[in-house]
Amino acid sequence: MECNETKLRNIFVIILFVANLIVLISASFIFYSTLNRLRFSIIEQYKNIYVKNNNNNIKNVVNGIIREIENERGNLIRLSEHRLKESVLKGYRLTSFLYSTLKGKMDESELKDIILNALKREDKNYIVVNIDGIVQLHPSIKKGESIKDFRDSMGDKIFQIIKKDIENNKNKETFISYYLNYPGVYGIVPHTDELFRRLLYVKYFKPYNWFIANILFYKDLDKEIKDKIIREINLYRYGPGNNGYVFVLKIKRDKKGLKLIRVANPNLPLNKIGTSVSLDSKDVNGKLFVKEMVDKIFTYGEGYVTYSFRVLGSKKIALKTTYIKYYPQWDWIICSGYYPSVFFNELQTKNKKLGIFIKDSVERTIIEVSIMEGVLFFIVIFFVNKIMNRIETYRKMIEERESFQRRLIESMPNPVIVIDKDGNIININDSFRRFFGINQDDVDVSDPQILLIKENAMSYMINQSGNITHLDLIDVKGRLRNIELYKSIFYDAYNNPAGIICILFDITRQKIFEKELIEMSIKDELTGLYNRRYFDQIIAKELVRAKRYKEPLSVIMYDIDYFKKVNDTYGHQAGDEVLKTLSDIVVRNVRSVDFVFRTGGEEFVILLIKTKAEDAFKIAEKIRKIVESYDFPKVGHITISLGVTQLKDDDTPLSFIARADSALYKAKNSGRNNTKIA
Ligand code: GH3
Ligand code: MG
Ligand code: MG
Repeated sequence: MECNETKLRNIFVIILFVANLIVLISASFIFYSTLNRLRFSIIEQYKNIYVKNNNNNIKNVVNGIIREIENERGNLIRLSEHRLKESVLKGYRLTSFLYSTLKGKMDESELKDIILNALKREDKNYIVVNIDGIVQLHPSIKKGESIKDFRDSMGDKIFQIIKKDIENNKNKETFISYYLNYPGVYGIVPHTDELFRRLLYVKYFKPYNWFIANILFYKDLDKEIKDKIIREINLYRYGPGNNGYVFVLKIKRDKKGLKLIRVANPNLPLNKIGTSVSLDSKDVNGKLFVKEMVDKIFTYGEGYVTYSFRVLGSKKIALKTTYIKYYPQWDWIICSGYYPSVFFNELQTKNKKLGIFIKDSVERTIIEVSIMEGVLFFIVIFFVNKIMNRIETYRKMIEERESFQRRLIESMPNPVIVIDKDGNIININDSFRRFFGINQDDVDVSDPQILLIKENAMSYMINQSGNITHLDLIDVKGRLRNIELYKSIFYDAYNNPAGIICILFDITRQKIFEKELIEMSIKDELTGLYNRRYFDQIIAKELVRAKRYKEPLSVIMYDIDYFKKVNDTYGHQAGDEVLKTLSDIVVRNVRSVDFVFRTGGEEFVILLIKTKAEDAFKIAEKIRKIVESYDFPKVGHITISLGVTQLKDDDTPLSFIARADSALYKAKNSGRNNTKIA
């Protein structure tokens, strides 16, 4: 039994352990998958950040290039202005010198020609126009033609603008940059095309109302910058591992449509520069990525294009993201890209490593925790067993104690019943069962005798007084038994009454014996009448009662006449027989409430309750006559003398009896066999 319990307990703990392990492992798997999800989300975010950063980066690089171009061009214009101004001032000085030196020494028209020729010799690009817009000197326009109405690509009259500028300038000189449309191409190409840009410096020569100017073709200057930028781009590398580079494609328009020409690319051999890129080019996945570039350029002016390619000498496919931006001044598409695959692959490797690390960590944690838990559970089993064993010992002790108590009660010879504080019968012993004829513990709680005992017990429980009660019970054989019921309350561990133990003492025999003893102590052995001692008690008691209730009380005192003779004649034995017979006769002739005492050897007293002297006298006479006529065996006839008296108010027992005695004395003296009242 005990062994089974321990086994069961251990099995339970092991089940708990296994269940716990299962929970732990499930939790670990959830944790593991959560970590993995987190890992992928982090990688994804990392990727996004990487893409965003790199996208920004390549955009910045391209914009940087454009800014540089713009700077260079700004510088160029400033430089050109300076150069032009120097040249125009030089021409102006030459003109002024010749004019002041030769003025008046020849015809004005001759002098003008000399000056114009000198200027032409000095710089073939000098332009001289008079105030009416008539060409005096021009590298490509004939003398005498008017440029008054020449318009720039915006449609403004250039000559008028120059005139106004000069008027407003205190040195009477101005710098102007404008776009000019060649006849026949006006309106087809962008009006800002640098091919058609002109830089002009003009100074007013007052004596002849001339505008002396010099012109620079911006495209010639711009080519320098372009070459410089291309050189720079072809050498430019940036970023980690110098992977980043910039490349430039130029949009070429002709009758067949658009063409993209490779202008600069540090990764291309020189002979590839200048070749065209097909708009139908596809990447390894069949994506028309060049077309996509062009579309984005014409729609947004910029954009990102991602395409795949096969890595040289390998089967690997790599990605490339390129930022493209249109630079309209040169019809350039400036591009820069990066290879996300490299980073993505690295990331993938790291991700895998992280996955393995997480897996290993979770596995290790499961193993470690399992071992720890195992150890913990064994410790728990150990202590639980220890505690349970202790509890078992206590339980046994308590059981032992209870069984001891039961055996104790069982072994008691008296009938015992134990009742709890709610009146339920907890226990009865064999003696109890035998007394009432109960089988086992089959107590009939509705049995009136059991109910009586229970009531007694419960009332003792409540009042806590009268721990012994006398009950008349009938035993299983139907005999009336005098029972003394001993009740004792027992308490629980908190000192609260828990119940009552009742022990039944059968005192029937004792009672009988007691009765016998009492009778013996108050009765005369020979005659069975009350003795002298009892006479003394009763006379005193009845005297008090009669006085209290004002009831009459009388006595008859009688004595056998010449009894000595009977003894002497028939022997003492015969005398005793006479005493017995006489007593029987008297007892038969008085009421049961009356008392007959043998107060001396052959002297007797009859105490008559609620009886007056006259009635007592009548009873005395009746008895005297019966005795007188009675034939006693062997002895024959005897007589008795009787004295009668009634209780007076001032009587003591002594005076009351003394009066009866004196009445008897009188009867004796009056010849015996008679009755006297006193
Ligand atoms: P009387 O009373 O008439 O004057 O004469 P009596 O002979 O009866 O005289 P008394 O009463 O004085 O005598 C008492 C006698 O009673 C004495 C004794 O022998 C006898 N007696 C007393 N007690 C007993 C007894 O218990 N048994 C017997 N057999 N005789 C007893
Ligand atoms: Mg006498
Ligand atoms: Mg006598």
